Amino acid sequence: MISNNKIKIINLIKNIYFNKKTPISLIHFITNRCNARCSFCFIDFDNPQTFKNELTLEEIGQLTKTLGNTLMNVNFTGGEPFARKDIIDIAKLYIKNSTIKSIYITTNGSLPDRAINFCNEINAFDSSVEINLQISIDDLPERHNKVRKIKDLFESCIELYRKVKLLKLEKVSATVSITVSHENCDNIEKIFNVLTTEYKVDAIKCCIVRDEGVYKTPDEKKRKILEGYSWLTNKIKEYQKNKKIVNYNNTFQGKLHNAKDEISWEMVKEIYLNNNFISNCHAGSLFGIISANGDIFPCEILENKKYGNLRENNMNFMKIWQSELSRKIVKKDIIQKKCRCTYECGMSFNILGNLRYHPKLFLNSIF
Ligand code: SF4
Ligand code: SF4
Repeated sequence: MISNNKIKIINLIKNIYFNKKTPISLIHFITNRCNARCSFCFIDFDNPQTFKNELTLEEIGQLTKTLGNTLMNVNFTGGEPFARKDIIDIAKLYIKNSTIKSIYITTNGSLPDRAINFCNEINAFDSSVEINLQISIDDLPERHNKVRKIKDLFESCIELYRKVKLLKLEKVSATVSITVSHENCDNIEKIFNVLTTEYKVDAIKCCIVRDEGVYKTPDEKKRKILEGYSWLTNKIKEYQKNKKIVNYNNTFQGKLHNAKDEISWEMVKEIYLNNNFISNCHAGSLFGIISANGDIFPCEILENKKYGNLRENNMNFMKIWQSELSRKIVKKDIIQKKCRCTYECGMSFNILGNLRYHPKLFLNSIF
């Protein structure tokens, strides 16, 4: 077993509540390549530049040595992360060189054998690292396959979900992740019922589709999307209480995660149609984005607020993260402008890094 550098709790607490200088979670787009073509995807697949200049394994090795001493989690996404055949090596570099304790992978579920192999190999490499596969399923089988444009994709997702469960590895889990969009908002109730009853899925999360990249939500569908999202989050909450959905384990930490999700759902509902400001966002401070070609951004949405490119900075992430330009973007464009959006991943860290949510977080965890 490889043991990585331990995070010093005192550094972590100081960073989350006071300094907010080093990331605790990063989303790494390890590739833009994808075998699906979802109608709501933000990637511009028609632009040949989209697939150029992916960071090499060697470059990722250098990058992972410069991520600071508070990084708890990395989220591999894309494109389809398992389209990268060296994803196991990438994960090993993160485990060896950084302080991460968990790896989340957003996958379209089309490559189940690669995904299972990943879980087994990484668990054998370091069984203390938590692995969670977030398998995207947005619709009933026929429509899901049609919208994502891969034959039998739904079946492949279910196969992957079941295989992960059968591994019975303590730190390895799979969750079905539903994005509520203009494509499925009229059908959410049926989708949820089929997944939970017919396919016996008992770990389900959801998010609301965002305007990002080349995707724009049709205006006339927004109210219906919000209704679908509200119904679904209420249902997940109800099922969690009855233990019919178990997204996290039954530890205090797991209960905190549940409570955090519930607060985040309510925030999304307040922001989605009315764009209300609720609290400061910690994108660019506590969490951030590494794109496939090594660009660093505070979040997925502020595409015109690039901090810098890793290749132009000797693959030194922290040099870019703590540069004058980055700090200026955080101060002026995020904090002073009261930036707001419905990006759930970002909200998790906004809740965590803001003491005003903590009473609710703890109360919801206990009751
Ligand atoms: S699976 Fe993900 S990356 Fe691939 S086309 Fe669909 S939304 Fe885009
Ligand atoms: S509020 Fe949204 S768009 Fe603004 S910085 Fe945070 S995550 Fe990015």
